[in-house]
This record gives sequence, C-alpha cells and structure tokens, in this order.
Amino acid sequence: SGNEIVTDVVVIGGGPVGLFSVFELGLLDLKCHVIDILDRPGGQCAELYPEKPIYDIPGFPVVTGQELTDNLLKQIAPFNAEFHYNRMVNSVEKQADGTFRLVTDADETFIAKVVVIAAGGGSFQPKRPPVEGIEAFEGKSVYYAVRKMDDFRDQDVVIVGGGDSALDWTLNLQPIARSLTLVHRRDAFKAAPASVNRMKELVMEGKINFLLGQVSKLDGENGQINHVHLTMDAGDLSIPATRLLPFFGLTMKLGPVADWGLDLNDNLIVVDTEKFETSVPGIFAIGDINHYPGKLKLILSGFHEAALMAQAAKKIVSPDERVIFQYTTSSTKLQKKLGVA
Ligand code: FAD
Repeated sequence: SGNEIVTDVVVIGGGPVGLFSVFELGLLDLKCHVIDILDRPGGQCAELYPEKPIYDIPGFPVVTGQELTDNLLKQIAPFNAEFHYNRMVNSVEKQADGTFRLVTDADETFIAKVVVIAAGGGSFQPKRPPVEGIEAFEGKSVYYAVRKMDDFRDQDVVIVGGGDSALDWTLNLQPIARSLTLVHRRDAFKAAPASVNRMKELVMEGKINFLLGQVSKLDGENGQINHVHLTMDAGDLSIPATRLLPFFGLTMKLGPVADWGLDLNDNLIVVDTEKFETSVPGIFAIGDINHYPGKLKLILSGFHEAALMAQAAKKIVSPDERVIFQYTTSSTKLQKKLGVA
C-alpha cells in the first residue's frame, strides 16, 4: 500500500542543516524530498528555541531560531524541494540496483539515489515529569517548549527545572506573565550562573517566586490546569497556575536511525570529513547526527558539511557530468537556477 516517490535525494530531517542541504544540492541540480517527524521545518531551532537569539551564524550578528528557519526556507525556495512533515523515516535499505528504498511510518515509499541523514538529535522528545494525569493537559496548558510567548501572556506560569531552558524562560516570560513561579527540587542549578543570578535578583525584587520542591499533582479540567500541588520539605503546598512548563530535559533517542546498519560512535553516525559519507556509500550524514574527529555541534559546521556532501552526491547521481566550481556571485548559470538572472 502507499504511494512510491522517486527522486534524486531524500533528506531525512528538516532542521537548519537539512534545509541548507537543499540549497547546496539544488545548485547542482539535484531534486530533494525532505521528511521530518515534526509538523514544520526548523528542527531544534523551531522546536526548542524559536524566539531565542543565535549569535554565531556567519553574517547574522543576531538571528532567532525561527528567523533563521524562515530565511533558510526563503533561500531554498527556488529549488522546489518537497516537504513531508509529521512522518518518521522508519527504514532505509540499499537495493540491488544501488538505489535506496525508504519507508515512513505513514506507509510511503521513497526511492532515492542518495540519502542524506540530517536527523540532528534523532527523534527527540521532552521527558515527561512523573505526575499522574499530566497527559490530559499537554498542549493545552502544560507545554514542554515555548512556541509562542503570547501563550503565556497574563498567565500564572509555573516553570519547573534548574537547567538553561528553565532559567531562560523564567527570565524571558517574567515580563509578560501575570505571575511566575520557578520550582526546582534543589537550590543548585545547572543553568548559566548569570541567568541564576538574574533569577535571584528577580526573586529579591518580588517579581517572581522561587520554591524548593517537586510537582506532585495537577488540578484542572478540560485540559486547563488551575492549581499545581507541590511536595516541599517545608510541607505540601498548592499554588494557582494556568500554565505549567516542565523542563526535565530531552531524550535524544536516535530512533530508527540506529537500525540502518551504519557504523555508529556513541549513538552518532560515523562519517569521513571529505564527503561526510557514512559506512554505506550513497548515504551521507550531516549536522548534529554525525561524528568525526573534532566535530562541533554547531549550525555553521552543518552548513559546511552540506556543501561538501553535495559535491559527492552529485557524482553519484550524475557520474559522467564534470562539475565546475563556480561562485553564486559571478556565475549566470547558478543565478538562473536561483531565479535572479
Ligand atoms: P536538528 O535541528 O536536530 O533537526 C533534525 C530534524 O530531524 C528534527 O526536526 C527531527 O525531527 C528530524 N528527524 C530525526 N530523525 C528523523 C527520522 N527518522 N525521520 C524523520 N525526521 C527525523 N547552535 C549554534 O550553532 N549556535 C547556537 O547559538 C545554538 N544555540 C542552541 C540553543 C539551544 C537551546 C539548543 C537546544 C541548541 C542550540 N544550538 C546552537 C544547536 C543547534 O540547534 C543544532 O546544532 C542544530 O539544530 C543542528 O541542526 P540539524 O539540522 O543537524 O538537526
């Protein structure tokens, strides 16, 4: 069952690195289909920190996760890649003719000459706190990420955790929330010291509350919480709350990628640094998902990897075509592909 899509390249993962690979592959006339578990592009940038500023993208002194995603989409638009969201690639198999057969959990089949794994942290999922019945509130009043700050405006917000996400959102949501309470089980934080200090100042100024304890129970109905119960050394407490943001970390599960027969190192896919090819020729891995000596999990590293990968992918798809190195600045051929000449 399901339909079969035949293409040059399937890119697994629509994070920043998967998106930029569409550009580099497109300049070399390779047609891409991009598949992602999430319901939209941007990977970690869009899912985990859409409104947080990034300061180390070359040429952008400051850009938020969502702005970077939007700009990448604009940049790759001329290449008309096709996007398939809300599906996970379950299997990748090399066929007798050298092409690859990929199957998604939506039961579609893709046949591709080249596979680019840009799966980042894998199928990442937030850890759910051990609170009975929390599922009923998820996505309505309990969130594991801040997608729109406005969802928290004029709300009684309870943030749980002691890491960077918990502290960052405490600082960022304080100005717009009606009330904000940070809850952590210890008086020690994993977050950046500057954020912890700023949080403590806000407590001193009476602008937020900090409570040492653990969430034990939620009250509410129809998905909307109204009280959060806390277990504390000083005794139990129930506080009014209309939004709960538990930051218990993410499980970076590699997911199905682990079963594709690729050489792995500590759950990352081993690649060379000339082509960023995996142990299976024709399957490349770029961005956070790969491993090589000196690897830095930065977006800019993934962009570089995409450029070199594309050169190697081109040789697989068009073995007889000679690729001439060209600048986008001066090549009318490239500019025609970009629709600017
Ligand atoms: P990801 O962004 O992780 O995207 C991978 C995508 O693949 C995901 O959308 C996932 O759903 C999808 N996927 C995985 N498996 C499958 C499958 N089997 N089928 C279908 N889809 C699949 N980096 C910087 O350079 N500068 C910064 O300032 C910076 N700040 C950060 C701040 C925070 C809070 C976080 C969490 C990260 C930060 N990073 C920063 C790191 C940066 O976000 C990552 O390096 C970058 O997102 C990696 O991009 P990627 O495309 O490789 O993977």
